[in-house]
Amino acid sequence: MGLLSLGTPMDWHESKKWNEHVRENGIEQLLNIFRQHAKRDGDKFLWGDEVEYMLVDVNRKEAQARLSIDHDHILEDLNDEEGHPEQFARAEAANVSFHPEYGRFMLEATPLRPYDGTNLCDYLYVEENMVDRRVVAKELLPANIVPLTLTAFPRMGCATFTLPPAKAIGPASQSLFLPDEIINRHVRFPTLTANIRKRRGAKVSINLPMFPDVNTKLIDDLIPLNRDLFLLDLEPWLGALKPGHVYMDLMGFGMGLSCLQVTMQGSDINESRYLYDTLAPLTPVLLAASAASPIFKGYLVNQDVRWNVISGAVDDRTFIERNVEPYRGYDVFGGLDVLKLDKEHVEKLGGGVGVNGDRVVNSSGDTLLQTLDGKPIQKVPKSRYDSIDSYLGDLQHDTKYFDPQYNDIYSPINSKVLSQLSQEKGLIDEQLSKHFAHLFIRDPLVLFLERIDQDNKLENDHFENIQSTNWQTLRFKPPALYPATRDLLTTPGWRVEFRPLEIQLTDFENAAYSVFISLLSKAIIKFKPNLYVPILKIDENMKTAHNVDAVTKDKFWFRSQDSWGLNHDEFIGYDLLWFDRFINRGNDELGVDEVYLNGYKDKETIEEETANCDDGDNDSDITATSSNGTSANNASLPFSKLLANEIINGSACHPGLIRLIVKLIATELLPETAQHHCDTSKLAQQMTKLQNYLKLVSYRASGKIPTIAHWMRTVVTQSPEYARDSKVTERLNYDLIEKTIHVSDYDFTAAGGLLTEYFGADIALYLKETGYGQ
Ligand code: ADP
Ligand code: MG
Ligand code: MG
Ligand code: MG
Repeated sequence: MGLLSLGTPMDWHESKKWNEHVRENGIEQLLNIFRQHAKRDGDKFLWGDEVEYMLVDVNRKEAQARLSIDHDHILEDLNDEEGHPEQFARAEAANVSFHPEYGRFMLEATPLRPYDGTNLCDYLYVEENMVDRRVVAKELLPANIVPLTLTAFPRMGCATFTLPPAKAIGPASQSLFLPDEIINRHVRFPTLTANIRKRRGAKVSINLPMFPDVNTKLIDDLIPLNRDLFLLDLEPWLGALKPGHVYMDLMGFGMGLSCLQVTMQGSDINESRYLYDTLAPLTPVLLAASAASPIFKGYLVNQDVRWNVISGAVDDRTFIERNVEPYRGYDVFGGLDVLKLDKEHVEKLGGGVGVNGDRVVNSSGDTLLQTLDGKPIQKVPKSRYDSIDSYLGDLQHDTKYFDPQYNDIYSPINSKVLSQLSQEKGLIDEQLSKHFAHLFIRDPLVLFLERIDQDNKLENDHFENIQSTNWQTLRFKPPALYPATRDLLTTPGWRVEFRPLEIQLTDFENAAYSVFISLLSKAIIKFKPNLYVPILKIDENMKTAHNVDAVTKDKFWFRSQDSWGLNHDEFIGYDLLWFDRFINRGNDELGVDEVYLNGYKDKETIEEETANCDDGDNDSDITATSSNGTSANNASLPFSKLLANEIINGSACHPGLIRLIVKLIATELLPETAQHHCDTSKLAQQMTKLQNYLKLVSYRASGKIPTIAHWMRTVVTQSPEYARDSKVTERLNYDLIEKTIHVSDYDFTAAGGLLTEYFGADIALYLKETGYGQ
């Protein structure tokens, strides 16, 4: 059984002839999805995570750690029921499912069946499932090859970083640094790589600022100066390279990174739209709170997260779409077939148009050119891997907080798609139509010859082709199409995927972040906070989230805490200490009915604690102007700049996200029999685990414990091997990988109190006492 549909992938120059065919049929499929599923309701709150692993070959004799690129067969084995029935059965029995990823050194694993989010036990089962995934994968690997959950392999792109070694001379990538042998063997992936380059009309170029240290030479000396294997080898010198930056030139630099994703299902489309919108302002905050990638291509960089790397790595926009000058001798239209317009035609199209060199633009800078198939060539401000462009709107949900003014960035739209979507009145409303019409400005990147013709009533591959190559911070996932006889409630419904999180080193942490997002989503649905801020502010926050230690040092635009629409009094007592009060019998003896609902605090205590809270006026409120001044300059707007700590942990006067989660656990997820205190030791253990999951996120936000990025940067910069030149040598890389292995194995015997340094004393003690690492 093949993991991905086999077939003949088309080269860009062939496949582009089908772009409109894919879009037209994809939208027809989407319309059919709405016809079939728009009115479904009563779907259960199901959820699931995705974890991506890198296979790292550790050679202790030579003190080397390399990416293993010849053990990818394990992925086929785990999915091959006929050829490898034992392995297949093993994965199935463990309720795990393995998926291919871009890198030949990568694996993705998810639970085979989603978790039941109405069941407390499933939030505790996640970690067990994650542990099983590593166990099952390890059973098929030699002892020296370890599946690690690293966001970025520190020396990917350095001279020799794979085993077996491979040279960067491949025609699919034409990279100066990455060999084609790192790319998944399935034909889809090299084709995807080449098609991005061919459409763009140049290789991708990613420039990360170097971390400036005393001996840092601000020159990326890994770039070969005189290579002339491919025409594109000259690109760094034609403008692709920025001085003082680490330069990367291939999709693999981004798609070869790992992350953690969480998908949740709403009860109906409207609930899912509200959830999507409410999670949007949290994407940069959680990106910063999960930061885990301070090293790229053997350099410490002056940022902590992967997002701009992966965004740049699949950026297939042509020069004209990016609105930049082409490199000397390059075509501004990249790989697009352009319908040249004569002057008369141009004037008819736009009035007042100007011809600027080869470009025909109107007054707002939009080009009036089109491709041969009639699609306008637009200015496209963002890569297809980027933050979301617009809210979906919650006006059909009972919350109704959305204001169209929040969608305040220029977001190009495929107007033909927009009118196709509005053909059936009342089927898809304006905000949602615009969302899909934006996704459909993109071209398909890989098409299989055998999949050109599809049954639009039962298949949705053309829709998914565009949808799943729009890699945004959130993904709104519609259901698939089914025969009319199928009971829809047994099929996946309207889901929201949360995608910014960096992967963490341990299953404990990955479970903690997944549970944080899924419980928060459930709490959002229950308590209905209003977290809308203009999209422009979220984009500003995305930039901020890249900064070194942004989670503790920077502030993020957020809805002022007084404007979340929640009554703080109702959340008092539901802090992390609630778990201690709940677990320890005897601490809950206030004895009145309300004590439980009030988080075990009496009215007097609440009044005392909130005496200094000034309703409706927040100290950190500042005038709501964004850096480019486009939002209204009006101090009464309910947006402020907050620390991640204030957003996540709240304060004496504001709930913060953690209290929402704790109250949800206390009032909805606890078994009925355990309403007032913890009766059984099993429940106590479960509650303690949840408390520690929340502590992890809470402590990362407050700075009580370091992010992985901070920890890694410190490991490197404090090593006697480090020459203070920003370089992560083979030896430093090995030492760091060894430490990450100690951490992911919870090795409490590791030198220098490693685990305590990494988790903080509190959580490390919990892990040790509950038998982690034994
Ligand atoms: P993708 O790569 O497209 O995001 P995957 O299949 O890799 O999709 O992962 C999807 C995640 O969604 C998995 O964790 C899976 O368990 C989970 N999932 C599956 N069905 C549902 C559902 N009905 N509701 C919520 N989550 C689901
Ligand atoms: Mg997946
Ligand atoms: Mg993946
Ligand atoms: Mg996913």
